[in-house]
Order: sequence, then structure tokens, then C-alpha cells
Amino acid sequence: MLLTISTDHRPATDLGYLLHKNPSAHHRVELGFGQAHVFYPEANEAHCTVAVVVEVDPVGLVRSRRGAKGGDFSLGLYVNDRPYAISSFMSVALGRVFSTAMAGRSKERPELTDVAIPLVVRLPVTPCRGGAAVATRLFEPLGYEVAAAAIPLDPRFPAWGDSAYLDLTLSATLTLQRLLEHLFVLLPVLDDDKHYWVGPSEIDKLLRRGGEWLPAHPERELITRRYLRHDRQLTREALARLMEDDVADPDASLARYDAEEQAVEKPINLNEQRLRAVVGAIGASGARRVLDLGCGEGRLVGQLLREQGIEKVVGLDVSVRALETAARRLHLDTIGPSQRARVELLQGSLGYRDARLAGFDAAALVEVLEHLDPSRLGSCERTVFAHARPSTVIVTTPNVEYNVRFASLPAGRFRHRDHRFEWTRTEFADWCEQVGARHGYSVALSGVGTEDPAVGFSTQMAVFTR
Ligand code: SAH
Repeated sequence: MLLTISTDHRPATDLGYLLHKNPSAHHRVELGFGQAHVFYPEANEAHCTVAVVVEVDPVGLVRSRRGAKGGDFSLGLYVNDRPYAISSFMSVALGRVFSTAMAGRSKERPELTDVAIPLVVRLPVTPCRGGAAVATRLFEPLGYEVAAAAIPLDPRFPAWGDSAYLDLTLSATLTLQRLLEHLFVLLPVLDDDKHYWVGPSEIDKLLRRGGEWLPAHPERELITRRYLRHDRQLTREALARLMEDDVADPDASLARYDAEEQAVEKPINLNEQRLRAVVGAIGASGARRVLDLGCGEGRLVGQLLREQGIEKVVGLDVSVRALETAARRLHLDTIGPSQRARVELLQGSLGYRDARLAGFDAAALVEVLEHLDPSRLGSCERTVFAHARPSTVIVTTPNVEYNVRFASLPAGRFRHRDHRFEWTRTEFADWCEQVGARHGYSVALSGVGTEDPAVGFSTQMAVFTR
């Protein structure tokens, strides 16, 4: 299988420095499944093209029982398209032969690694599930001009129609590192297959190579799903990690929660009062099945489990680390089976509709909204109020007007570094009113903590009911 990358950046031979592969030599790299050859069909001031040829050994593949593609019939193990068509083999080969360039490093031209240069990629035989339209949907949002021509099954017999392969040309002006990242992630996505078993470490690979551009990609769901070979669990986790703060560390908000926010709020032990208020409101609603959305280390989950009337408590958080701490704090591995059956911790993101959240009487979002990027508020609203739709939703969030009363908080600063915003009373009331109106809930606003005559309560609380 063949792939070429060309540039007319001047001097075009800089491509060799960027790729760490000298244009005058032929480079051969052994791969587990065959060999990769790197050479330059042209290399002059004005034009430079690098070619990557990957030879896959189909017999070796069958012997090693890895990635043989051919369905149930045994000849298919030997006779298949893998040696010729662009696939995850090419992706792995690119990762190996251009690892330095993909990491954004260049010994000889460090200043060029950040520069967008005109690049053209040619992929003459590319299997693409969904055809040219899918190739366009994948590459156009990344700034490529996409030329995709379906390859006829047999040019002598046009009536036979097209094969499943595209002759693909992608042109864009971007850094070489970004281009290689795009190819690394998207080649197996086009093919919708991988020659190796896909496990949790694939998520890390996807986040490492796609973290900078995938969260904003309109097809990020399709890409993630295909990249992880349609494994639902892995896909869900990857999307959650991708979407949470558009790839800032999902554990970050929690890690600093204790240290900062509690220190600021400590004098009035607001945390305790907030929990009491939320447990009280849930009790008053008569809820038996309760969700704690953005449960963090599980403080509220623990409190709720002490309430007799509550049958089931499910905590959801995007941060795996927070959930591990919650599981430890709640002693999930040692409590008795009847208690254990009452509690569940789920990893997931409020940015996504989640069938596991249906069928509950009440949901709490305690100090969570302000950790969401404002652009994510709408999807969180839909997840909670349109899809999960419990009868009662309790939301708490800081009242930014109260911050002037915290002696330890410098003027203009939020209570926590991870807070994306903090609302005034009017802003929170407006949001609640709109959400209530959109989804058929009525809202009762209140507060937690001491009420200051001028600036109101320290924490704002809303109880939505329908
Ligand atoms: N409710 C807890 C934790 C509040 S801190 C308490 O009161 O103690 C905010 C929590 O929201 C963090 O644990 C963070 O990981 C979680 N979070 C942030 N964005 C999220 C998202 N998109 N989906 C689910 N949880 C999220």
C-alpha cells in the first residue's frame, strides 16, 4: 500500500528535515507485520514528495493470527486486500517511521515544526465505509480540500459499478505534525477496521493524537466509535474524556476542590450545610431512586445511603479518579450485599445523552454546572431535563455576588480555579426560568449558608419539579 505526502513550501526539501528522513536515502523499517519503505520520488527546491510503502506479509499474518481479514472462508485469510489498501497497518507504520515528526519535534528545523505549510496527501487505494461522502465529512472540517474518486470495480466493465475503494487526495496548509496526527487517527476510521485487538490503551492513543483537534470535530462521535471498533464501553469513556473541558484533565476540577474551594468557604462550613440542604430537598420530594450527577468523591452519595426511604443512589462523574476515591470512601468493596445493591457509580459525561440515567425520581447537581464550559451547558441541560427527566432536579451553584464576603478570596477571582463561570442571582434565576420553561418544570429558588442582606446567600439552590 502506498501513501505520498508532497509540499511546495520553499525550500521543499525541508520536508526531509521535518520527517527526520534524508531525501537522498531509501529507508527500510521492520514492522511486526511486514516492512515500511520510505523514499522520495522527487526532492528539489520547489517540490518534494515522500512516499511510504508498507508491505504486509499476509502469510505471516495468518500464522500470527493477527488481523487476517477474509471472513469465514479460509482462502480469505490469504487472499485479501490488506497488503494493498490503506488501513490501520499504514497508521501503525506512520506512527513508527515518523514518530519524531508526529511528536512535533525536528532536530534540524525546530522553528518549522509550528509553521503551517502547504501539504498534499495522496492515498491511491483507500477503503472507505460510506464512500466519498464520509471521507469529506472527516477531512473537510479539519481544513482539507478533499478530492475523492471512487475506483471502478473494473474499468473495462463500467456497468459493474464502483468498488469500495477511493482514490483520495487531501490538500491543506497546516503543520506536518497535525497532518500526521490526522492520518494516524483517521485512516483506520475510513476503513472502519483495525488489524489488532482494541483495548483501553487505544483511548490514550486517541487522546494523545487527537486531543488537540478531535473535541471540536463535528464528527467526533463517528470517529471515536470507529477508532475504538464500535466498543460501546470504550467509546463512551473516550468521548467523556474528550469532551470534558475539551481535553483539559478531567480529574483536575476535583483534585483542587478540597484545597481551594473548601478553604475559601470553610469559615461557614458551607459544604456541610449544602449537603444537608440537598438531602432535605430530596427527602421532601419523596424520591426513592436518586441520581448524583457530578458526584465527585461521593459525599452526597454517602449521605443519601443513610436515608431509609431511599432505595437506590447512582453517582455519575466524568473523572475516573474521583470515582475511585468515591468507591474507597464508600467502602464499596466491603459493605454488605444489600447496601451494595443500593449504590452504583458510573463514569460518564453530562454532555451526552445517557440511557443509564433514565427512570429516576430525583437528580442532584451539586456545584457542578460552574465546572462546565458555557458551550456545554446546553447539552448538559438536554441530558438532564430532556432525556433523564427525573421529577425533581436540585441544582446548587455559587453566588458570585457573595464572593466579596470571603476574606481570603482576592477581588474578581472565582472560588475555584476550575470554575468556568460563577453566576449572579439574576443570571442563575434567568437560566432556571428558561430551563424550566423549555422542559416543563417549575422552579423554586433558595439559598444555602448565611444570607447577607446586600449580596444574598453564599450558595444558590434551585429545586425543579414537574
Ligand atoms: N458534587 C460534588 C463534586 C463537585 S466538583 C460535591 O459537591 O462534592 C464538580 C464535579 O463535576 C467534579 O467531580 C467533576 O469531575 C465533575 N464534572 C465536571 N464536568 C463533568 C461532566 N461533563 N460530566 C460529569 N461530571 C462532570
